[in-house]
Amino acid sequence: MVLAELQGSIIGALQQLQHATIVDDKVVNECLNEITRALLQADVQFKLVRDMQTNIKNVLATQYGSAGHDKRNNIKKLVCNELCKILDSGKPSFTPKKEKPSVVMFVGLQGSGKTTTCTKYAYYHQKKGWKPALVCADTFRAGAFDQLKQNATKAKIPYYGSYMESDPVKIAVDGVERFKKENRDLIIVDTSGRHKQEAALFEEMRQISEATKPDLVIFVMDSSIGQAAFDQARAFKQSVAVGAVIITKMDGHAKGGGALSAVAATKSPVIFIGTGEHTDEFEEFNVKSFAERLTG
Ligand code: GDP
Repeated sequence: MVLAELQGSIIGALQQLQHATIVDDKVVNECLNEITRALLQADVQFKLVRDMQTNIKNVLATQYGSAGHDKRNNIKKLVCNELCKILDSGKPSFTPKKEKPSVVMFVGLQGSGKTTTCTKYAYYHQKKGWKPALVCADTFRAGAFDQLKQNATKAKIPYYGSYMESDPVKIAVDGVERFKKENRDLIIVDTSGRHKQEAALFEEMRQISEATKPDLVIFVMDSSIGQAAFDQARAFKQSVAVGAVIITKMDGHAKGGGALSAVAATKSPVIFIGTGEHTDEFEEFNVKSFAERLTG
């Protein structure tokens, strides 16, 4: 279960509302305060949480006097709507189409889970009838090609890489060309990361992007950085045309709420979340159903 603690607290707070004999201001405030505390603990930005509480109170004030049952359900709906607002980037992502081969380039810092996520993304689409292929353009990290090779072989996905070639741009171009000739319809290019955001990393990303002309650039980010996700997502976006984000390691980190809301604030849609180390621990991210899950 993703963000189980946050979900438990929100559902718990809303249930108290259901069990209260009278839904007066005191009960409503207690419920909203508990939800606020839970969101702050999940590292969602203070301003977003405060605005959420204000918005809900404003709506309730104009609806004062409505029957208890309606009010209970209304509050749940309002909380859900406000969570959607916090999590929604307002921008739909480019979705690859089977009729036309697509090139998808993955970027992100080393250790974010990029290589693992490339295979997850390929595997997810393979199960839906796509013909994906993986290109390893990470010549920076020793063992990156072996890792991709191992993951790809396990998932029965064709891969391309080189132990000899040190130019990541050449590998990316050769790999994309080869798989286009082989009629693969989803060509995924894994690029190298660095430990920190630095000029060399961004320059390499730009060069690979210029040479392979990807239809979509996906930025992969580790959820454990919480609110810091905003600055990281913005820095990557300024260097390359990031079209979507995948947030990894949502299985282990309470800070996931911070990462999700911070990325939305950069106006980048989150399309998937990683929920474990295995290839199938990968979920499509949909704002509305996620908010509905959080509110029970
Ligand atoms: P890269 O350097 O960005 O390519 O990162 P890797 O793909 O090598 O992943 C770094 C570590 O994070 C590995 O141990 C992965 O198994 C782990 N990892 C990746 N995604 C997830 C996830 O969603 N959940 C968990 N728990 N671990 C993950």
